[in-house]
Amino acid sequence: MQPLIGITGAFDQSEEKYYLRSSYVAAVERAGGVPAVIPYVCTSEAVTAYVRSCDGFVFSGGGDIDPSFWLEEPQPGLGEVDPWRDLFEITLAREVLVSDKPALFICRGIQLLNVVLGGDVVQDICTNIQHQQRAPRYHPSHDVLLEPQSRLFRLIHQPVVRVNSFHHQALGRIGDDLYIAARSRDGLVEAVEHTASRFVLGVQWHPEAMKDELSARLFSTLVEMAAPPLKNAQIRVTG
Ligand code: MN
Repeated sequence: MQPLIGITGAFDQSEEKYYLRSSYVAAVERAGGVPAVIPYVCTSEAVTAYVRSCDGFVFSGGGDIDPSFWLEEPQPGLGEVDPWRDLFEITLAREVLVSDKPALFICRGIQLLNVVLGGDVVQDICTNIQHQQRAPRYHPSHDVLLEPQSRLFRLIHQPVVRVNSFHHQALGRIGDDLYIAARSRDGLVEAVEHTASRFVLGVQWHPEAMKDELSARLFSTLVEMAAPPLKNAQIRVTG
C-alpha cells in the first residue's frame, strides 16, 4: 500500500478556484506516495477526517500569514493574506502534530509551523542575500549551512547545500520544540525540525521544484515515514 499524502493548496478568490503547482504532486509521486490535494474545509469534522485519512502531509507554499496570529499589526511590506487558508492550515497543522503523522512544511509552510508552535514571522526581510530569486524555480541560488546534529544533515551528509529561494519573510522568534536545522549565510532560518514529532520538518526553500539529491530525499523520507506498518495478517511466519 502506497501512503496517501495530503497536500494543501491555495484559493483564487476572484476565480473561485483551488490551485496547486503540479511540482508538489509530481514530487510526492516520484517519492512513491499517492498525492491528494486537500481543499480548505474548516469544520473540525473535515479536518479530523483529513488527518485520519492521509498518512502524511505537505503544507505548500503561498501568500503571507495574517500577523494577528502573533499579535502584530500588518506592516507595509506584508504581502497578500488569505484568512480562510490561514484558519484551515493552522487547524490542520495542529491536528497533524497531535496525530504524530509525518509532515513537510514548505516555504509558507515553515512559517505556519512556527506560528502554530508559538513563534513569529518577520513580515518583510531586509538582507544582502537575494531570497526572491529571479532565476528559474529549480535553480539553486544561495547556500544553506546544515547543523551537523540535524536530521536534515543525516539525509545528505553535507555541511553546505545550495537551495532555491522565493520568500520575502523569515522566521523570527522560534516556536516551542523547534530545532534550527539550517541557516542561510545571512543568518536566516532556512530549516527547522519539530523535536517532539517522529518526522515534522520545515524548509524555507522549495524542494518540490528542485532536482537535487536532498530535495528528493526529503520527499522519499516523508513517504517512508508515512507508510502504514504491515498488518499482522500480512506477516507470514515460516518454520
Ligand atoms: Mn532563502
